[in-house]
Amino acid sequence: MSLVFTPPAPVVVPVVGGGSYPVHRIYCVGRNYAEHAVEMGFTGREPPFFFMKPADAIVAVPEGSTGEMSYPTLTNNLHHEIELVVAIGQGGRHIAAADAPAHIWGYAVGLDMTRRDLQGEMKKQGRPWCIGKAFDQSAPIGPIVPKAQTGELLSGAITLAVNGTIRQRGDLKELIWSVNETIEQLSAAWALQPGDLIFTGTPAGVGAVQRGDVMEGAVAGLGSLKVAVV
Ligand code: MN
Repeated sequence: MSLVFTPPAPVVVPVVGGGSYPVHRIYCVGRNYAEHAVEMGFTGREPPFFFMKPADAIVAVPEGSTGEMSYPTLTNNLHHEIELVVAIGQGGRHIAAADAPAHIWGYAVGLDMTRRDLQGEMKKQGRPWCIGKAFDQSAPIGPIVPKAQTGELLSGAITLAVNGTIRQRGDLKELIWSVNETIEQLSAAWALQPGDLIFTGTPAGVGAVQRGDVMEGAVAGLGSLKVAVV
C-alpha cells in the first residue's frame, strides 16, 4: 500500500512513571455537576449526553511544565472547564456500571476549552456544538496517572485557578452521573476502545480567559495541569 501523503503522528499523552498513552477518541459529558447545570440554565438529573472532540485537539502537557494554547479564532468568549479525564484501557460494548472499573486504565486532569459564544449560538439554532467545542487545541491535558497507582477515583477536590485565583471548585463525588454510569451509557452508544478518553464534566464556576492568562487545574490524587493562553 502506498500512502499518498505522510500520515500525522499518533496523538499521545505522557504517562506518569513512563511511557505514552495513544489517544483514539475523545468523548465529553455535558452538564454533569448540578451547580454547573444550573449556571447553564438547567436543573436535575437529565439523561447524560455526549459530544466529541477530535483526538488531535489534545495539548499534552508533561508533568511539571506549563503548556500553551493559542487563543482560538472566531470567539470573544473562551471559557475554561476543568474536568476529570478517564482513560480507557480495555474496550467493550454494553459495559455494566459494576464492570466499568476494569475498563479504566488511568486518569488525568483535563480542560474542555469552549468557545462559549459560538456554542451558545449553535444551541439557540439547534445546530451541532462542534465549532464551540471541538476546535484545535481545545483539549489541554496533563499526564495520565495509572489507575494501578491511584485506585478508583470516586471523590476528591477538583479545582481551577486563573492567575492564582480560584474560579472553579467541586468534588468528584458531586458528579451527577458517576464515571461507572457514564461508561455504561457511553458503551451502549459506541464501542469503547483502548485509547478512548472521557472528559467527565465540569463543576460550577466556568468563565472567560484572555491571552496572557495562566490556568492551573487540579484533581486530588492527580496533581495539576498548568496552561497559558497565548
Ligand atoms: Mn465540559
